[in-house]
Amino acid sequence: MLKIGLTGGIGSGKTTVAKVFETLGIPVYYADAAAKRLLNTNDTVKDAVIKHFGHEVYKNGELDRKYLAGIVFNSKEKLELLNSLTHPAVIADADEWMQQQKDVPYIIKEAALLFESGAAAKLDYVIGVYAPHHVRVKRVMDRDGLSKEDVAKRISRQLDEEIKIKRCDFVITNNNRELILPQVLDMDKKLRALAMEQVKE
Ligand code: ATP
Repeated sequence: MLKIGLTGGIGSGKTTVAKVFETLGIPVYYADAAAKRLLNTNDTVKDAVIKHFGHEVYKNGELDRKYLAGIVFNSKEKLELLNSLTHPAVIADADEWMQQQKDVPYIIKEAALLFESGAAAKLDYVIGVYAPHHVRVKRVMDRDGLSKEDVAKRISRQLDEEIKIKRCDFVITNNNRELILPQVLDMDKKLRALAMEQVKE
């Protein structure tokens, strides 16, 4: 079973592409969703977050996401600190999830910060989802009701898109012009062939 990463910047369409793979029967681990879950359920993560960001981050035991977002999206250092507190737990959780997956040619781990967290090193191949900057800004403004400036700020905190895409083994273009489905079907075919080769080795 191959372990495939799926990454891309905010609003590139990672989750949208991942859902298409799911319709083909491919199990997908969503790292961002897992990080949100672990921030509420993993005591080691919770204790570390409280230690660095204060008790105010949890309201009645539940993460106050808006409060935390207000802190980390205004400071590169604080965002990096938060990521450093959550990434080890997400990587361990993803590893456990991967071990439970059976009888499939490959699985996908979808994560915005696959390279930044070091998680890519444990994967066989990484697919990048690419969309131009202006398309990403518009999508996130529409989806999250954020201002153009806020989206630009969030984008600027991530690894440069062009650099990220160059590090990927494969690219799916999601620019509102090229269709995703044929690209995913083609990718699926390639990955199944690579998985067969792995079995023969
Ligand atoms: P984030 O990192 O912020 O979670 P993402 O890369 O996972 O973003 P999505 O959530 O998949 O991106 O897409 C962002 C928004 O753009 C969503 O509202 C999604 O429905 C929309 N979108 C993505 N791709 C397309 C497309 N090809 N056609 C129409 N809408 C799209």
